[in-house]
Amino acid sequence: MIYIGSHISAAKGYEAMGKQALKLGADTFAFFSRNPRGGKAREIDKKDVENFLKLAKEHHFGKLVAHAPYTMNACAAKADIRAFAREMMADDLKRMEYTPGNYYNFHPGSHVGQGSEAGIEMIAGLLNEVLKPQQTTIVLLETMSGKGSEVGRCFEELQAILKRIELQEKVGVCLDTCHIWDGGYDIVNDLDGVLERFDKIIGLDKLKAIHLNDSMNPLNSHKDRHEKIGQGQIGLDAMEKIINHKSLQGLPFILETPNDDAGWANEIAMLRKLHR
Ligand code: FE
Ligand code: FE
Ligand code: ZN
Repeated sequence: MIYIGSHISAAKGYEAMGKQALKLGADTFAFFSRNPRGGKAREIDKKDVENFLKLAKEHHFGKLVAHAPYTMNACAAKADIRAFAREMMADDLKRMEYTPGNYYNFHPGSHVGQGSEAGIEMIAGLLNEVLKPQQTTIVLLETMSGKGSEVGRCFEELQAILKRIELQEKVGVCLDTCHIWDGGYDIVNDLDGVLERFDKIIGLDKLKAIHLNDSMNPLNSHKDRHEKIGQGQIGLDAMEKIINHKSLQGLPFILETPNDDAGWANEIAMLRKLHR
């Protein structure tokens, strides 16, 4: 089995997100831990969280995959921007503990000309400062398409970060199908081979969540433009193979496709039908 859901607006709180997920036919979802452009986080309302936890339990939700703001750059050139990233993540992780045992996914960062080696060191350094032994949240590095100076454009770069982390059980990977396709991993013609490489370099035990997106662009384009499921260059056949791959069963699959609610509900229903 797999869990499927989409991104859901966090504007009205946790219980509203849970109800919205149910409306879409989802049993997991992603949400921005704060405004995607950064800024202040919502106050936690304990009653709201309690109601959500009850709903999630009743409906057998899988693990949630919260998303850090895009503006967070753990390997910025300026120290104050890195410090801001550290504070945001530390605060987000504190708030994640109200809904224990879920995932918090972030884009490793952009090295902005400092080189990926330097970027890797800074990202790992930030994680080692922020991660706490008592936290129940697992922080996921997202596989990136390699546009601009993004760090995490290949499995080796993610592994270079991961191997520097002291609290190994607190970190994992979120694999974005659009990003790795754009990054040059041929999941259309060689899904087995790509997952074998992931296993060899990072280890499939570290793979905790999937961002299921089609891509507007061809293999190795390094563009990062998501497309609706089955309507892009990856295509529906490959999507069907991905959701049914034996190595990916039990994981949360999150749609970040360009859709409205009806579009997501349709995609979720379609994927459930395609899942064997
Ligand atoms: Fe992302
Ligand atoms: Fe993604
Ligand atoms: Zn993307």
